[in-house]
Amino acid sequence: MSIDLPLSADIYIGIILFCFGACMGSFVACAADRYAKKESLGGRSHCDSCGAKLGALELIPIFSYLCLKGKCRKCGARIPVDCLLAEIAMAMAYLAVYLYGGVSVVTAEYLLLVTALMAVALIDSRTTEIPDGLIVFGLVVYLAFLYPHGDWEARIADGVWGALAYGGGMMLISLVLDVVLKRESLGGGDIKLFAMLGLYTGLVGGLIMLLCSSFIGLATAAAGSKGGKGAEIPFGPAIAAGAIVALLLGQLITDMYVSLLIK
Ligand SMILES: [Zn+2]
Repeated sequence: MSIDLPLSADIYIGIILFCFGACMGSFVACAADRYAKKESLGGRSHCDSCGAKLGALELIPIFSYLCLKGKCRKCGARIPVDCLLAEIAMAMAYLAVYLYGGVSVVTAEYLLLVTALMAVALIDSRTTEIPDGLIVFGLVVYLAFLYPHGDWEARIADGVWGALAYGGGMMLISLVLDVVLKRESLGGGDIKLFAMLGLYTGLVGGLIMLLCSSFIGLATAAAGSKGGKGAEIPFGPAIAAGAIVALLLGQLITDMYVSLLIK
């Protein structure tokens, strides 16, 4: 499925993808920030406090944040640490996708999906909304790569079951929770996101996605609940993280679980 390369070439591509991931993380963080503030997506990056345009060196991800110690060069205002975290997370995610898929169609597909998921996580955490455009993007990538991914008939059957089970399951859980909690529990965006990702993970992978995202979601909710009660907690970042774990480590986790059962 993937092309075999000498180790040196693998390391080289890994480093390139890590750097490219950091740049994309920076871009997605900036775009998500502008989306949340309803600003236009065009135009040069600038400091939010003083409006100073960023120079070429300041656009280098991770490196520039560390060099400037997280402060604007002109006015000294703090640069949000989310940007740095998004750059590092995306760089690691790109590298992880390459380690998983090597030089292959699957790697290209997952790089696109991971980028969309980062946008989902960042926008949801700022606005508690998941734009439909990102769900549609995920669907388009799934359909575009369905045939090149390989074994498309089995994959679409498993995918449709995954989408129905996790999208539909989430809808049922949210309806029950709405009644019990007497307020909106899961947003419509979360349900759509689960359904879209169910296509990618299928039935078994979806279970891992569900377990991981619930665990991460509950952990962040517990950590965040100290701040103030009643605030809406975005579940998108947890679903995104759970989906990436399920796609990249799902097979490994299932194999380990099965070998434990057989012992
Ligand atoms: Zn400034």
